[in-house]
Amino acid sequence: MDLYEYQGKELFSRYGIAVSEGRLATSPEEARAAAEELGGPVVVKAQVLTGGRGKAGGIKLAEGPDEAQASARHILGLDIRGHVVRRLWIERASDIAREYYLSITFDRGEKKALLMFTTEGGIDIEEVAATKPEALVRLHVDPLEGFQPWQARRLVYGGAVDDAGEQKQIADIVGRLYQAFVDCDAMLCEINPLIVTPEGEVRALDSKFTVDDNALFRHADIAEMRDPESYPREERAAREKGVTYVKLDGEVGILGNGAGLVMSTLDVIALAGGRPANFCDLGGGGDAEGVVDALEVITADPQVKSILFNIFGGITRCDEVARGILTALDRMTIAHPIVVRLDGTNAEEGRRLLTEAAPPNLHVEPTMLDAARKAVELAR
Ligand code: GDP
Ligand code: MN
Repeated sequence: MDLYEYQGKELFSRYGIAVSEGRLATSPEEARAAAEELGGPVVVKAQVLTGGRGKAGGIKLAEGPDEAQASARHILGLDIRGHVVRRLWIERASDIAREYYLSITFDRGEKKALLMFTTEGGIDIEEVAATKPEALVRLHVDPLEGFQPWQARRLVYGGAVDDAGEQKQIADIVGRLYQAFVDCDAMLCEINPLIVTPEGEVRALDSKFTVDDNALFRHADIAEMRDPESYPREERAAREKGVTYVKLDGEVGILGNGAGLVMSTLDVIALAGGRPANFCDLGGGGDAEGVVDALEVITADPQVKSILFNIFGGITRCDEVARGILTALDRMTIAHPIVVRLDGTNAEEGRRLLTEAAPPNLHVEPTMLDAARKAVELAR
């Protein structure tokens, strides 16, 4: 789960990392009031779950309340790479002497947290990594040893920060960021830019904070930060019903049991010359309830032209799934053509049930490839 900048900054401050004082606003009037309260120049910042807001016009300096209100009016509703701005963060403007970069990510290859630091901050880190790799200092943290203070010093010296005050503050921030990363079960904690003010104070001017979805159950306070509006409508509906759903760009809606099977179904659809509209995993279930939920989610997507059920019966038997499908189709009307491929435990029984009782828009196919071809053909 990705957090908004202001939410990440709230977590930063809990761990003692310096950030600028600010207020959340959802209207130009609130932005004005926030600027009045903060006093002096402020920055009006679009809160969207994507980077590069500055370049997209989502970040504006404002001298005072009037300008803050005008900028807010301009930025609210702006579409930044598919993310519509609904929230603004208004914070006290900072004077910037230098912009650095600091991050912690989870390096799956090494199975360790990876610290990265460079004094070439502010801009895209990918660009620094590509054009000036020597400027990017990288260091892994062994999860059993934990973070050691010498590692922060190595980052700072490696990045050639020569001011002693800066070295001390940055090293301190690295330790605090690591603590936040581990405590919050984060996958990414990034500060870009980490600024140095003309007075020599080091502060986080931006935040990217991603928390492992699988750990949210033990972070109720962070789970509550989720903004349902930041997800597409069908994804929201799927989440509410507990269906695993991923939106894709094609025309065949896919429903399977088990992530592995669903993913190979995507490949077979491509092999048959079609494109999947989405990815829906029934998991272990195949009861009518689960099928209705999944069908509701799939058919809410206007791009779907045909639906492919790909079921491999194991513990969940094919006859159960077939009954689930039939009950679901009794309860709801589906205009789309539906293709079903059943294999595994009690597959024959399942196919017989379907062929005997199914409505005319339901087609039973014996193999995955036949089913995919049929679904692609019916989507044309
Ligand atoms: P991003 O573009 O989404 O990464 O948003 P950032 O929060 O990193 O802001 C982009 C850039 O805007 C920063 O690199 C700064 O150069 C500038 N900026 C943001 N806040 C301030 C501020 O308080 N004062 C000044 N002078 N510039 C700022
Ligand atoms: Mn940034």
